[in-house]
Amino acid sequence: MNTAATPRRQLSRRLALTYGSLLLLVLAGVLWLVSQMQRNLVTTQLQEELQLGQAVFARALAQNQQQLTQAAKVLAADYGFREAIASRDQSTITSALQNHRGRINADISLAAGLDGDLLADSRDDQVSGLFPFPELLQQARLQGAASAIVSLDEQAYQLVVVTVRAPQPIAVIAMGFLIDAAVANDLQKLTGLHVSFLGRHREADGTQRWRLQASTLPPALTDSLAQQLPVQPDQAIQTLMLAEQAYQTLIVALAEQDGSEIAVLQRSLEQALAPHRQLQRYLLGLGLAALALALVATVILARGIVRPLQQLQTAAHRMEAGDYAVDEVIHRQDEIGDLAQAFNTMRETIASREQQILDLAYRDPLTTLPNRTYFTEQLTRLLGSAAPCAVLLLDLDRFKLINNTLGHALGDELLRAAGERLQSQLPSGAILARVGADEFAVLLPDAGDRAGRALAEQLVSIMQLPFVAGGQTVDLRVSLGYAVAPDDGKQTSALLRAVDVALYYSRQQRRHIVRFDPALQPFRAEHLSLLGDLRRAVAENELRLFYQPKVNLQGGDHNYCEALVRWQHPSRGFIPPIDFIPFAEQTGDIKRLTRWIIARALSQAREWQQQGIRMHIAVNISAHDLLDESLRDFLADSLERSTVSAECLGLEVTESGFIEEPERAMALLEQLRALGIKLAIDDFGTGYSSLAYLKKLPVQELKIDQTFIRQLRADGDDAAIVRSTIELGHNLGLQVVAEGIETREQALLLRDWNCDRGQGYHFSRPVPADDFLHWLQQTGAGLRV
Ligand code: C2E
Ligand code: MG
Ligand code: MG
Repeated sequence: MNTAATPRRQLSRRLALTYGSLLLLVLAGVLWLVSQMQRNLVTTQLQEELQLGQAVFARALAQNQQQLTQAAKVLAADYGFREAIASRDQSTITSALQNHRGRINADISLAAGLDGDLLADSRDDQVSGLFPFPELLQQARLQGAASAIVSLDEQAYQLVVVTVRAPQPIAVIAMGFLIDAAVANDLQKLTGLHVSFLGRHREADGTQRWRLQASTLPPALTDSLAQQLPVQPDQAIQTLMLAEQAYQTLIVALAEQDGSEIAVLQRSLEQALAPHRQLQRYLLGLGLAALALALVATVILARGIVRPLQQLQTAAHRMEAGDYAVDEVIHRQDEIGDLAQAFNTMRETIASREQQILDLAYRDPLTTLPNRTYFTEQLTRLLGSAAPCAVLLLDLDRFKLINNTLGHALGDELLRAAGERLQSQLPSGAILARVGADEFAVLLPDAGDRAGRALAEQLVSIMQLPFVAGGQTVDLRVSLGYAVAPDDGKQTSALLRAVDVALYYSRQQRRHIVRFDPALQPFRAEHLSLLGDLRRAVAENELRLFYQPKVNLQGGDHNYCEALVRWQHPSRGFIPPIDFIPFAEQTGDIKRLTRWIIARALSQAREWQQQGIRMHIAVNISAHDLLDESLRDFLADSLERSTVSAECLGLEVTESGFIEEPERAMALLEQLRALGIKLAIDDFGTGYSSLAYLKKLPVQELKIDQTFIRQLRADGDDAAIVRSTIELGHNLGLQVVAEGIETREQALLLRDWNCDRGQGYHFSRPVPADDFLHWLQQTGAGLRV
C-alpha cells in the first residue's frame, strides 16, 4: 500500500468536498430565491395582464354592441322597413334584415312582433314560433333597446334588440354576433391571453355542466378546463392546473342575468416564466462554472499544502528506517516552511540522540572501542555474507591482580593503552572490540589461518613490550586464541565458542597463541561416552592419586603435599585432569569423584601414618563441591573412620568457587573449618576476587598461581606483584605457597621474600604414592632450598 499517497487524496478530497458543498448550497439558495422572486413577479404581471385582457374584452364587446345597435337602429328607422313590419311583409322584412346584417357582418338577425311572434329569422327561412329571448324583448319595449350575450343552439351570441316604432313600438329587431373561435383568436391577438368561451348546459339527468364553445387553448387542454370549472365559478383570479401546467385564470361572466355564458382568460405560468428560465439557466451555468473553478483552485491549494507534507512524510519514513542524513529542503515563508524547519531540527536532534544511544549501546566507555554487542553484530553480518574471516580473542593474564595491587586508575590506564596499541597494529577493515574486563577481540575479514596467525603473532609480540602507566613500567602478558570461519564455525555462536575454547587452552597450557582445534573441545561428543567411562573408572580403580610436595622454603619438615588425580584410561591412555574435571563438573559427577579422591587421600594418609609419617595432604575441590551440603557430614564421617586427624587434610579451592553463590560457599567453608580441616585458595591471581575479599574467607593458605612464578626474576615485573602478594598474605595471617617453581633461582627468590612453601617440578613432579615416599626419604629429608 502506498501510504504516502493517502493523506493527499484525503485532504484535497475533504477540502474540495467542503468548499464544493458550501458553494453548491449558496448556489442552490440563490437560484431558489431568484426563481421565487421571478414567480412572484410573473404572477403579479399575469394578474395585471388578465385584468387588462378583461378590460380589452369588455371594450370589444361594447364596440360590437354599439355596431349592432347602430345597424339595428338604422334599420328600425327605415321607412320602408317599418311599412313592411306594419304590413307583415315577410319577404321584405327578411331581405332588409339580411341586407343590414350583411353590412356589419352580423351572424344572426331576427324580427318579432311585440307579442313575441317571429317575423323573420336569419337562421331559418320558414319563420315560425316565438322570439327566443322574451326578457330582452320586454326590456327593449320598455327602454327602446336591450343587449346581452345569449345562448342559442348551443352557441353564444352577442345580441342587440331594438324596437321599431311607427311611432308607437310595433315590433323588435335583433342582431347578433356569434361568439366563436374567430372572436377568441382576435381577442388572443389583442391581449396575448388564451380565450375560451363556455356555456352551461343542463344535461338529461338534470346536472349542469360546462360545454366548450370556442377556445384558443390547444385541444388537449380544453376538456380538462371544462371539467375543472365549478358550476358557479369564482370570478377572482385563480390558478388552474391543465395537463399539469399552471394557468393563471380569470373567469368573466358574459350572460349577465344567470352567468350561463362565460369567457375564460388564461395565461400559462410556464410560458410567462420562460424568459426568466433563461436567466436562471445563465445563473446556473455561471454558478457551476464558479464551482468548477473553486474546485480546481481548492485542489491546487491542497496540493500546495500536501506536497511538502508528503515530502516530510517520506523523510519521516526514511527516519523510521534509520536514515537521518537528508535535510528536507522546503523554501517557504509560511507555516509549512516553519513546519519543515521544525522537522529538520527534530531530525537533527533525534539523529544526535540516536548516535549517543548507539555509542552507549555499542561502545565501551573506558577505551571508546566497540563493545561485545557491536562485535557480535558485525561478526554476524560478515558471516551472513559467507565471507571468510578470522576472530582473535586476546586476554590480559593476571590483569585482576594488577588492578588490585597497582590500583584501578592505573588498571584503566593500562587497558586504554593496551587498546590503543592493539588498534595501531590492525590492518584496515579489521575491527577491534573490548569484549570483557581484560579481553579484546579482533575481527579480521577475508582472512584464513595464515593471516589470522600472522596478526596473532604481531599482536602478542607488541603486547610484550612494557607499558608505562602512572610512572611505573608494567609488563602485560597475554593469551590469545583464534578461530577461522568457515572452517571452525559458520555461525556466530559456533565461532565465538571456538575462539573461547582456543583462548581457554592458550591460558591453560600457558601458550601464547592457540588456534582452535575440534580436539580441544572441552565438552565434545566423545565426552558423553567418557561419562560412563569415568563412573566405571571410579568403580574399577582406573583413577590414581599422584602426590606433589609443598616444600617448606624456610627450612624444616616437608610434610605437606598436594594430591592430584590421574586417569589411565584402558584404551585412550592417560587423560589429564583438565580434560575430565570440567566435564565431570558439568554432569554432576564431580561430587562422586571428589568423594573418591578424599577417601583415597585419607586412606593414603592413614597408610603413611601407620608407617610413622605424618603427612598433610591437600585435595582439590571444585566450585560445585562447595554447593554440596552433605560434603561436611561426609568429611566428618570419613575423618572419623580413617582415624586421620582433621588437620592432616587440606582442601584447595579456586576463587571461582565463590563466584556463583558466595554466601552458601562461605557457610560450607566455615563448617569445614570448624571440623579442623585446613583450607587454601588455589591459583590466586587468576580469578576475580579482590584481596579485600580474602579477609572474609576462612582460609589459612594462599597459593600464588604459577603464571606469576614461571618467569620470576629478581628484577622482573612479576617480582613486585609476587612480593606484595606474599606480604599481603602474611598480613592477613595466611601461609603463602608458590606454585610452579621450575628453577632454583625462583625457589631462592621466594625463600628470600619469605614465601612459606613452594611447589613445582624443580622439587618434584606429581608422582605415585610410592615414588613420593621414596622422594621424601631420599631427597626431601635433606632438602635445602
Ligand atoms: P592445581 O590444583 O593448581 O594443580 C597444580 C597443577 O600444576 C598440576 O597440574 C601440576 O601437575 C602442575 N604443576 C605443578 N608444578 C608444576 C611446575 O613446576 N610446572 C608446571 N608447568 N606445572 C606444574 P595437573 O595435575 O594437570 O592439574 C591441573 C589442575 O586440575 C589442578 O590445578 C586442579 O585444578 C585440577 N585437579 C587436579 N587434580 C584434581 C582433583 O583431584 N580434584 C579436582 N577437583 N581438581 C583436580
Ligand atoms: Mg591445587
Ligand atoms: Mg594451582
